[in-house]
Amino acid sequence: MKREFAVIGLGRFGGSICRELSMEGMEVLVIDKDEDKINEFKNIASHAVIADSTDEATLKELGIKNIDHVIVAIGDNIQASILTTVVLSELGIKTITVKAQNDYHEKILRKIGVSRVVHPERDMGKRIAHNIISNNILDYLELSDDHSIVEVKAGKKMLGKSLIDLDIRARFGCNVVAIKQGKDINVSPSAEDTLEEDDVLIVIGADRDISRFEKYLVIDD
Ligand code: ATP
Repeated sequence: MKREFAVIGLGRFGGSICRELSMEGMEVLVIDKDEDKINEFKNIASHAVIADSTDEATLKELGIKNIDHVIVAIGDNIQASILTTVVLSELGIKTITVKAQNDYHEKILRKIGVSRVVHPERDMGKRIAHNIISNNILDYLELSDDHSIVEVKAGKKMLGKSLIDLDIRARFGCNVVAIKQGKDINVSPSAEDTLEEDDVLIVIGADRDISRFEKYLVIDD
């Protein structure tokens, strides 16, 4: 069954969400106050409308109430983003995802009860920073304010060693939850599993423990 989405604001982020959802065959309504943006997306989205999303009457007319999930991707104009979000929650939209421009914007969105706040620039910055710390860190995903998951390429000193030899849990307090070997993924690795070249470890833990683990990777590789 096709699910219905609306994307408000067609900057780089909103535009990319719209393209992906449309490619996945989803029904997408896009709204932007800029005519050029709407022209750019009219052949991509199912419906493309020039409108000011802070105007409740317009959103009602567009039938936004029937949409499952609305993504508010207005960044620069924080006031417009917040007003739009308030209107959407008053109209009873079940799921609202809002792109936050900065921490202050995020704080206000949380205060008005938005549970899905995304912060793509900051998150990407963090991922890239972790990758810069060590080439072995392939990806970094924040799970909460103080827990994360990292994808780590098995370094030279890990090769041929088992998880029990490396003793990552006791030494750093993090857990190896899976090992990727090419296309295969071993989701419950045993303590005796030995690491081979190009293996990727998926490690979960508290940020301070992950950080200790990252430092160990830097020092020894
Ligand atoms: P990017 O994702 O490119 O970083 P951004 O965070 O800079 O984007 P903006 O350029 O501020 O985001 O806004 C994205 C889009 O939102 C713009 O195309 C703009 O026209 C649209 N927009 C801003 N305010 C409103 C509004 N009140 N109603 C509808 N669209 C709006």
